[in-house]
Amino acid sequence: MAKILIIEDETAIAELEKDYLELSGFEVTMVSEGKAGLMAALKDDYQLVILDLMLPGMDGFEICRNIREQKDIPILMVSAKKEDIDKIRGLGMGADDYMTKPFSPSELVARVKAHLARYERLVNNHTKTNETIEIRGMKIDKTSRRVYVNEEEKILTTKEFDLLSFLAEHPDHVYTKDELFREIWDMESFGDIATVTVHIKKIREKIEEDAAKPQYIETIWGKGYRFKI
Ligand code: CA
Repeated sequence: MAKILIIEDETAIAELEKDYLELSGFEVTMVSEGKAGLMAALKDDYQLVILDLMLPGMDGFEICRNIREQKDIPILMVSAKKEDIDKIRGLGMGADDYMTKPFSPSELVARVKAHLARYERLVNNHTKTNETIEIRGMKIDKTSRRVYVNEEEKILTTKEFDLLSFLAEHPDHVYTKDELFREIWDMESFGDIATVTVHIKKIREKIEEDAAKPQYIETIWGKGYRFKI
């Protein structure tokens, strides 16, 4: 059964989450302090992290960023403030889902299950296919989920990687932001198309020599984006 890490400083909430997840058969560990939570997430073999935003020691933003640099496991962020959720979404920090407190424990369990199933599909697909895409100095290795530009590795978040490899797999095809959002973020209600813009910008900063004159992902004004052949 999947191992889940809860990083949450409100014990009552953490315990409620833990109880429900354990009833569904998950193995759950709770950590109530930020730095210890990050350490646990990086060191141990968890399949999913439920991450509170406001924490002592280190906040959820920082923890999310740090986990993302090393792991592509699903991260579900929770916050008591709706405005914070909007903010993290806008930042495109690499979290997979966001929930505003209070939420129903059964909804949490449903979302955890959906993310784990999706992640498992992703991992399985990639181990089966050993696909690499190579275009003008860029190499996307879908098995190891790594991206290289002129032999130099570029570190992308899960969603940045999904978006880049989707576009690269369909070169010369113009996709609207709506289409890309539906394709990459499959739970439509938890974000909006501005997320796509933010991610494209981040990808360009990472893979392009000059992000203002992109050589890989073109903006087609009024339409969307296209991967150049
Ligand atoms: Ca908190």
